Amino acid sequence: MRRFLTLTLSLAAVWAALGAPAASAQKLRVVTSTTDLKSLTEAVTGDVADVEAMARPNQNPHDLEVRPSLMVKVRRADAMIVNGLELDSWADVVAHGANNPNVVPGAPGRIDASRGILVLEAPRTRVDRSMGDVHPSGNPHYTLDPGMAPAVTQNILEGLVRIAPQHRAAFERNRQQFLTRLGEAMVRWSAALAPFKGAKVIVDHNMWPYFLTRFGLVQAGSVEERPGIPATPTHLTKLIASMKEDKIKVILAVPWADHKLAERVAEEAGAKVVLVANGVGAIKGIDTYLDTIDYNVKAVAQALK
Ligand SMILES: [Zn+2]
Repeated sequence: MRRFLTLTLSLAAVWAALGAPAASAQKLRVVTSTTDLKSLTEAVTGDVADVEAMARPNQNPHDLEVRPSLMVKVRRADAMIVNGLELDSWADVVAHGANNPNVVPGAPGRIDASRGILVLEAPRTRVDRSMGDVHPSGNPHYTLDPGMAPAVTQNILEGLVRIAPQHRAAFERNRQQFLTRLGEAMVRWSAALAPFKGAKVIVDHNMWPYFLTRFGLVQAGSVEERPGIPATPTHLTKLIASMKEDKIKVILAVPWADHKLAERVAEEAGAKVVLVANGVGAIKGIDTYLDTIDYNVKAVAQALK
């Protein structure tokens, strides 16, 4: 009996000693669809969660191949944060494939970061998706606009509090600190782009209306004929003519799109192609949300000079 008791006590001691690593293993496990959402989620969770993005930053988020490795990533997640607006509908396939009831649509751990935001280019009539338009619910690229970050982080916070209410105070504190830094940066960004109010730019994929509108710039056309639909020769001819007429000098291009085509259009129109980040990590070494916006603001300001 005594031996048994000793054994039990020493097991308890071992258990207690393991307590510290066990606690860190109990971090919340959060998956996000995009790297922007990963960075914005980390701004809320600090070190109480491990956050992983499902899409790589240089991938076209509209068109992600769902691999079994993604489902493995999601199998043990406590929460899944999606962009919504049909940018990442593949996340549903992953959630179901992972057989994880925590993160399927409608579960408390399923968080749509777009809730309540003012959607640009929302269609007035039903968009026929068989035509290939990849923005059938309006423009989904709102995270490129830093002015959306307060609403997005609020959605993330409220969603995470549903599954981890004990962390509410920490989440709110972290978010406030992030918003302070964002506010300071916003002053800098607005000043950097203020001299170019009203300037027109062309884009490769229609993903910049939120960013450009925020800073008083104008997206005057895209190399793609419609989102997800490649250009026809007629479209390109018209685009080049309008660029010449309006003296548009800049095409914003993202790493995952067809650069050669953007270069050809730029050459014909007497403009230049400027590489911008479609999300956190899309350009090497730019690894946080604030740094990504910073990079894009500087790149656009430099190009418009
Ligand atoms: Zn898009």
